[in-house]
Amino acid sequence: MKKLRWLTLSGFAILVAMAFFATRTAAEPGEIKLIVPGVWFCEGDLANLGHSNNIIIEMKDYLIVVDANFPSGARLTMETAKRISPKPVKYVFDTHHHGDHAYGNPIWTKAGATTLAYVGVTEEMKRFEPTRWQAAAKGRPDMADLHLNAPEPPQQTFEKSPFILKDGSREVRFYFFGWAHTRGDGFVFLPKEQVLCTGDAVVNGPYNFTADANVANWPKVVHSAQTLGARYVLPGHGSSGGPEVLEGQAKFMTELHRAVADAIKQDKKLEQVVPAGTTTVYGNVVPAKTTLALSGSVKNWVGPFLPAQVRDTWEEIVQKTPHGDIQH
Ligand SMILES: [Zn+2]
Repeated sequence: MKKLRWLTLSGFAILVAMAFFATRTAAEPGEIKLIVPGVWFCEGDLANLGHSNNIIIEMKDYLIVVDANFPSGARLTMETAKRISPKPVKYVFDTHHHGDHAYGNPIWTKAGATTLAYVGVTEEMKRFEPTRWQAAAKGRPDMADLHLNAPEPPQQTFEKSPFILKDGSREVRFYFFGWAHTRGDGFVFLPKEQVLCTGDAVVNGPYNFTADANVANWPKVVHSAQTLGARYVLPGHGSSGGPEVLEGQAKFMTELHRAVADAIKQDKKLEQVVPAGTTTVYGNVVPAKTTLALSGSVKNWVGPFLPAQVRDTWEEIVQKTPHGDIQH
């Protein structure tokens, strides 16, 4: 009897171990990079899984994770956090309301974490949800498996910027500088270590998504973030870098706005500048072509989203309303 029980247990243990190794292999995230002691940057697999980047910040007794990611990304980052430190994840900060940054919220709260955001994130969810969740769940098994009809809003929000978390080992500041990528854009700054996490208000590469944006105001938000004096810049998408990422992102947005404004002034028509025809980029159906070109100095930010960025900026200028406020 005793022996049989032992056998059963060991068989079970082997199964558990196999499942563990299988998960570990599948769960190997793109890249984990130590930025400064106690701060890790996890680059998400945007091309294949639609994931955002995550940052793990070690406090004295707990961890802070920047961005909830999609549910599958949340699970990967949770696994990474366990490997990095035995401390529990106490806070998960949603930099904004987009699915790749916030739809993993229920995964984290179920594990005991508190989801945190600038109040604008909750307001954006009220504006755009649950329509977007329900559409995205059709194409994402990690969302469908949750059997939820709507995203889970952040549990704790702040209105006054910065909101500060501080303990014996570290100070972390959460900022809102205005409407850029979305009306809820939150930044995370570690003043002593000069590390800045930007969400999608700053990306390092051709990942700027302008549908919910205020393109005209975007460079101003980045300039405010620049005054913090960050040495390490950890974007929402693309690789980590330094202050040059902020500089380039602001320049790209300024050039985009100027190029579109010039075309409008020259009496061009939108159909000329952004001809008919669509393509799918990271799951978004967007116009495929544009005749506008930006300077070589911002080429890091120019890619398949450019036609959509031009169209959104065009609509924003012509309708004299931030694009996020136009029905879309
Ligand atoms: Zn986004």
